[in-house]
Amino acid sequence: MKTIIEPFRIKSVEPLRLTTEEERKGLLRDAHYNLFGLSSDDVLIDLLTDSGTSAMSAKQWAAIMLGDESYAGSPSFRRFEQAVRHLMPFRHIIPTHQGRAAEAILFHLIGGPGRKIPSNTHFDTTRGNIEATGAEAIDLPAPEGLDPAAPHPFKGNIDLTRLEAFLRENGDAVPCVMITVTNNAGGGQPASLANIREAAELAHRFGKRFIVDGCRFAENAWFIKQREPGQQGRPVVDIVRDMFALADGMTMSAKKDAFANIGGWLALNNDDLAERARTRLIQTEGFPTYGGLAGRDLDAIAQGLVEIVDEDYLAYRARTNAYIGERLATLGVPIVQPTGGHAVFVDARTWLSHIPPLEYPGQALACALYEVGGIRACEIGTVMFGRQPDGSEKPAKMDLVRLAMPRRVYTQSHADYVVETFAEISGVRTSLRGYRIEWEPSALRHFAARYKPLGPG
Ligand SMILES: *Cc1c(COP(=O)(O)O)cnc(C)c1O
Repeated sequence: MKTIIEPFRIKSVEPLRLTTEEERKGLLRDAHYNLFGLSSDDVLIDLLTDSGTSAMSAKQWAAIMLGDESYAGSPSFRRFEQAVRHLMPFRHIIPTHQGRAAEAILFHLIGGPGRKIPSNTHFDTTRGNIEATGAEAIDLPAPEGLDPAAPHPFKGNIDLTRLEAFLRENGDAVPCVMITVTNNAGGGQPASLANIREAAELAHRFGKRFIVDGCRFAENAWFIKQREPGQQGRPVVDIVRDMFALADGMTMSAKKDAFANIGGWLALNNDDLAERARTRLIQTEGFPTYGGLAGRDLDAIAQGLVEIVDEDYLAYRARTNAYIGERLATLGVPIVQPTGGHAVFVDARTWLSHIPPLEYPGQALACALYEVGGIRACEIGTVMFGRQPDGSEKPAKMDLVRLAMPRRVYTQSHADYVVETFAEISGVRTSLRGYRIEWEPSALRHFAARYKPLGPG
C-alpha cells in the first residue's frame, strides 16, 4: 500500500515565521502563559482550532469572483441552496453568518423556560443558545464514549436507552432531539448510521422533531463507510443523504465541513417553522437570500460542499490524524482512541501524572508545546471546566490537550514536526511544572486567564 498523500498541490503559500525557543519563552511570558494571547504571527503550527481555518481551493477562490452581491434574489443564493440540497434534502435552507446564529434562531423559536433538549453531546455554543432561552441542554452520550482508551468505532453515539427513558419521563417538555456529528465535545468521534436512524425513529415515535448538528457531516460519513457493517461499498454522498433523510432539520457551521472561512445555515422541513425562522433571520442576520453573508461567501460554500465529500480528501483527512496518533502512541504518549475526525486529543493528566489536576497538566503541556516547538494547541480540561458556579474549583473529568487540524493546511512534514516536538518534551516530561491562575474573568476563563508557572517541586 502506498502512502496516502495530500491529494492537492500548493499554488499559493503563506510563509511561516521561524522563532527560537528563547524568543517563544519571552512571548509566552508576555502573554501571561495564555496561548489565546499570542499573536498568530508568532505561532509556527497553529492547531488551536479547525474552525474557519481551512485552505480554500482554486475553484473556491474563482467562485468568490462570481459572487453576486444583490440584496435579494442573488444567483449565489441559488447555487448555495442547490449545493446544500444536493447533500441534505431539506425543504427550507436559511443562510446564517455562523453555526451559532442558526442555533440562536432555532432555539429562539422552540426553546424557552421549562423546555429540555437532549443530544449525544451539545457543543458549547449550542448549549449556550439553549440555556439563553431558559431551556435546559441535556447530554446523553453512549457509555463507550466515556472511556478515552477504549477504541470503540462509534464513540459519538447517543445513548438510545437513556434517550427513550428521557422522552418517556419528560416528553411534554422536549421540543426536539438533537445529534451532533461528529461529536466535537466528545473527541470528534462519529455516530453510526444505525444510531442516527434509531434516534430519529425514537424522536418521531414520541412526536418530536429530530435535528442534526451537522458541522462535521462528511468526516462522520467517512467513518461510517470505514467502520459500519454494510456501509463499506457505498459512496459517501449516499451515506450523507441517509444521515439527513430522517431529520426534520439541521444546524451547520460552514467553517467546518464546507471548507469556508465563515458561514452557516439552518435547514428545516416544516413550512410554518421555516417562515418564523426567516422572520427572525431578517431581524438578526439579513434577508433570506443572503443571511449574514456576502454573496461571494455563499459561492465559496457551494463549491466547498462539492469538495468536502471527495473520498480521496476524506481518506487523507482521517489518515493525517491516525498517523499522528499512531506515532504519539509509539512514543508512549497517551491519546484518546481512536483518533477523531478533526483532532488528536492527548491525555495530559495521564502523561504528566506528576502535575495534579488543579495545577493544570493540560495547560502545562500546551505551554511546553509552544515553547519547545512553536505549536499552539488547546487545553480542554480543568482550566476550561474546573470553575464551579459556587466559585469553588474541582478537577474536570479529563485533562486533555486538543491538536485540531485545519483542513488542507499542513503537510506530512508538519505532522512529523509535531511528533518530534512531543519526542523532545518526552525527554524532559517530569521536569515540566504546573501553573496557577493569577487572574481570571468571571466566565469562559480559558480565553483570558493569566497564569504563573509554579516553581520546581
Ligand atoms: C463550531 C461548532 C458550532 C458553532 O458553529 P460556529 O460557526 O462556530 O458558530 C456548533 N456545533 C458544533 C459541533 C461545532 O463544532
